[in-house]
Amino acid sequence: MKLDRAGQSALLKLSQVDLEIEQIKSEISKAVSSKELTEASAKLSSTSGEVLAARTNFENLNMEARKADDNLHLVEERIARDMERLNNTSSPKDAQAIQSEVESLTKRKSDLEEVELEVLDRLEKAETELNAISVTREELSKLVSEMQESIQLQVDELKSRGRKLTADREILLTKVSSEILVRYQNLSAKQVAVGQIENRSCTACRMGLTASTIDALSSLAEDEVGSCPECLAMIVR
Ligand SMILES: [Zn+2]
Repeated sequence: MKLDRAGQSALLKLSQVDLEIEQIKSEISKAVSSKELTEASAKLSSTSGEVLAARTNFENLNMEARKADDNLHLVEERIARDMERLNNTSSPKDAQAIQSEVESLTKRKSDLEEVELEVLDRLEKAETELNAISVTREELSKLVSEMQESIQLQVDELKSRGRKLTADREILLTKVSSEILVRYQNLSAKQVAVGQIENRSCTACRMGLTASTIDALSSLAEDEVGSCPECLAMIVR
């Protein structure tokens, strides 16, 4: 098949550009399916669940603490009222009854104080836990955002390179005859479609060529496109 020197050089360049475009496509799909990002996102999602659970636990304990405090105040108020009644009563029988109630209220107060302390202790631990897991979540969220931004930048850059190469490709296509292009498309669907002889080898398949093959290819007219006997790639000068 005939193709002038400029066309041969465009054909070789076309083959390189197409390989580069394929490489870019594979880099883009590798970038967007980042394993690190998938892992970090999954971790972020489970940590968000943990934050929610820790917050619910904290809020429940907070409510429990308020309730314990309210109960304690009620008992304290009743003791204060009883003490006032005790000071004002002149009946020894009433005084004895009030005294006995104060004693049982005092016991109840002591129990409630213990309950409140225990709840406050759990509340403090729950708060520490909530803060720690929230910090972890913030860090993960930041990491995921950074990863997404970095992937986006990488993809944008690859796409921009891809657009430039596609534009180059359009120009190269105009320099190659349609007959050669059909052969090129058929070959490039399966393999590297264009090669040269370098160091007694075909650059498309990297196979060493025999002296007689090299002689035959070298003796072709300058505008004749050869063919590698090993891989069938078109051989240009
Ligand atoms: Zn070859």
